[in-house]
Amino acid sequence: MDTIIIGSGGSHEIDLSLTCPACHGKGVFHTWDCINGTDDLAMRQRVLHDQSLFFYTCPHCQSAVHVEEKCLYFDKKKHFMVWHIPDLKMTVTSGEVEDFLGQNDFSGYDCRVALTWGEWREKIIEMESSFDDRLYELIKYGAYQLLKPDQKEKLPLEMYHFDYADDSYQPDQLALVFMEADQKGNGYVYPVNTKMLEVTHDVFLPVLQKLSPQAGKGVFERYGYSWAEHFMKYIIEAAKKPGMETYSQLVGFWIRTIGREIFQTELKGQ
Ligand SMILES: [Zn+2]
Repeated sequence: MDTIIIGSGGSHEIDLSLTCPACHGKGVFHTWDCINGTDDLAMRQRVLHDQSLFFYTCPHCQSAVHVEEKCLYFDKKKHFMVWHIPDLKMTVTSGEVEDFLGQNDFSGYDCRVALTWGEWREKIIEMESSFDDRLYELIKYGAYQLLKPDQKEKLPLEMYHFDYADDSYQPDQLALVFMEADQKGNGYVYPVNTKMLEVTHDVFLPVLQKLSPQAGKGVFERYGYSWAEHFMKYIIEAAKKPGMETYSQLVGFWIRTIGREIFQTELKGQ
């Protein structure tokens, strides 16, 4: 195990020995296993906007290879961390976090895990916003349910994500992005407004607080699409029970709000 040396910006660099999957030539990739989003503003920019950041160029055949490695991103001002862990069998320890962070206690941090680079970047964007990231995940799940089957086929789930609504990169102005499967770089952008976030907050936050009061504080948890799916199934079952009619209506109101506020359409029926 290497000793961790934190550079001037607070990010940490490593060299990985790689074998090119195309020509099997060997090489070294200089990369990062920790990015300090508070002090290393240049690296924060690159994580959010430089698509070439985690690509290795083979010195023998010039192939571009996407490298999936562990990398911890932290923000000491906003008190969050997102750990990119591409393979959940990889071991990670709280000691690693403490070394990177330079402190023994991270119980005050919101800790998240992301399995892909895309999910990692999306989660950092969500965590920088002033709203609970779980609200974004619930909206993301709900909005996708409103697509018709042929639309779902054209706009696959794997390419569906949150991003900035426009080039001003405002942390509270995010949008749902639906990318077309067969048209490279083509997609649809639907901004999510404050009203949508507030309604989601009012309908679901009391339940979230009851189910998981810690909400990933000091413990790394994954709050993504599959979490939202699981949570909504629980909500729908609970809303069917006797005495839950009012809550059931509230969930229906939430779905209609997504239709109106995001897709600008009135939903009919149930
Ligand atoms: Zn090669």
